[in-house]
Amino acid sequence: MRRAAAVLGYAWSFPLTAIGLVLAIVYRPRAWRWSDGCLEALAGDRIFGRPGAQTHGWLIYYRDDVARDDEGLRRHERVHVRDGMIGGVFYGVAYAVTFLFWYVFTPATPEGWPRWKRAYYRSWFERRAREEQLAGE
Ligand SMILES: [Zn+2]
Repeated sequence: MRRAAAVLGYAWSFPLTAIGLVLAIVYRPRAWRWSDGCLEALAGDRIFGRPGAQTHGWLIYYRDDVARDDEGLRRHERVHVRDGMIGGVFYGVAYAVTFLFWYVFTPATPEGWPRWKRAYYRSWFERRAREEQLAGE
């Protein structure tokens, strides 16, 4: 039963993974591996927005092997993997809507952060993933 649910999760989130695979054309990862139930790739600074990592379905792009070996970041990205396996393409849409909402309505911060960064940190999905990231520290 549990195995069947996992197979369904991989299939259900495959459209998100497929988008990530298409991005490999731009990101040109230098290394791939299968780890902890996810396909992981090292893509350097070519990842859009230059984050430490970026998740598409069950494909995770890491900036480098330091980011890939960061246990907190690994927990963070796996929250997005789990969300994708539960929500499928609806998760992708919900993530985009949440981000766009905060992009439009975000108040300024004292640090003078750019609008995209404020939206990213206010996104409900990112807040949940960050809580998980910090949980083991
Ligand atoms: Zn995140």
